[in-house]
Amino acid sequence: MDALRGAGWQPLPFTQFVVKIHSRCNLACDYCYMYEMADQSWSSRDKVMTPATMKATIRRIAEHARAHGLPAVNVILHGGEPLLAGTSRIDRFVADLRNALEPDVRVEAGMQTNGILIDESFLAAAAERRIGISVSLDGAEEDNDRHRRYAGGRGSYEAVARGLDLLGSAPHRPLFRGLLCTIDVDNDPIATYEELLRWEPPAVDFLLPHGTWSSPPPRRTADAGSTPYADWLLEIFERWYTAPRRETRVRLFESVIRMTLGGRSMTEAIGLQPARLLVVETDGTIEQVDSLKAAFDGAPDTGLTVREHPFDLALEHPSVAARQIGVDALSEQCTACSLRDICGGGLYPHRYREGYGFRNPSVYCPDLTKLIGHIAGRVRADT
Ligand code: SF4
Repeated sequence: MDALRGAGWQPLPFTQFVVKIHSRCNLACDYCYMYEMADQSWSSRDKVMTPATMKATIRRIAEHARAHGLPAVNVILHGGEPLLAGTSRIDRFVADLRNALEPDVRVEAGMQTNGILIDESFLAAAAERRIGISVSLDGAEEDNDRHRRYAGGRGSYEAVARGLDLLGSAPHRPLFRGLLCTIDVDNDPIATYEELLRWEPPAVDFLLPHGTWSSPPPRRTADAGSTPYADWLLEIFERWYTAPRRETRVRLFESVIRMTLGGRSMTEAIGLQPARLLVVETDGTIEQVDSLKAAFDGAPDTGLTVREHPFDLALEHPSVAARQIGVDALSEQCTACSLRDICGGGLYPHRYREGYGFRNPSVYCPDLTKLIGHIAGRVRADT
């Protein structure tokens, strides 16, 4: 850190806060990084965020925003399953958050939910408090239920579909922000995409399943000639790109297009833009991006808590710095790569290899090479 500071580097303040309002889930999805991967810290945490921790979290967000003169912050309610915290707790948190920051700091409030507990009373509170809602869904019933199941093994699709029907209905639709789909390359890509479009989502985020070099994602073999994720995504890209009208936004595709044209990425999955996201766990622990849980036990730890420490101290953490310094944190292979400025080495946790840390190309390197190369080539040809 001293060397970085000495070279003139200054950390950028956090602008996005993921607040884990409830640490347990009513589903037991088999790919979940919270419960099924290396980090098992959830089992020792408070189940639900207490009013005192909520208050401390809000105080720290307000303190950080004012200290750095931020015009806006993005606060995402997350879990586990955030709706298990109950509507009144969620309502109180967002009301207090807005009171503490607005009007001088704009609050963009959102929630990532599995959708099962969406009901009229929550949607009324979400409308009142302006909470945007994103729902996780992996495609058609059979495809979704292969992974997204209750602990007893029953599929979740039916319950999620009920929640999405309600969220998508006329009075509530403005709250709908989009769908999050974790890729299973065994599902048909076009059928998956068209199934997601059935809900008319304003946006779809396709998520590469979390994995590392030490614990590779499904079907991601050491064979650099094999590109199952790029092949899957490119079928959807062509369907999306050549549609007569823009049916939905896909941040991954749009980010590659924007960066090909000199713009910025909209997702931390690719690009070299500094990571400015911080997580607060139910017990007030301050952590880094929670997908790091896929790397090793304790990977997201900062050793800080909202009760005792300002967020500025997290800016001093070496891994936070590594995710803010762009090219300087990349492996030699990534630094020399012609796609470096668009790919950025891929999502930080996907670079991890036991014994070597994070200074490696992404475990998805062959897929990213093919995906970005194809999209960038397509855009260049068209412009
Ligand atoms: S992960 Fe692969 S494609 Fe991405 S920058 Fe590194 S070498 Fe290039």
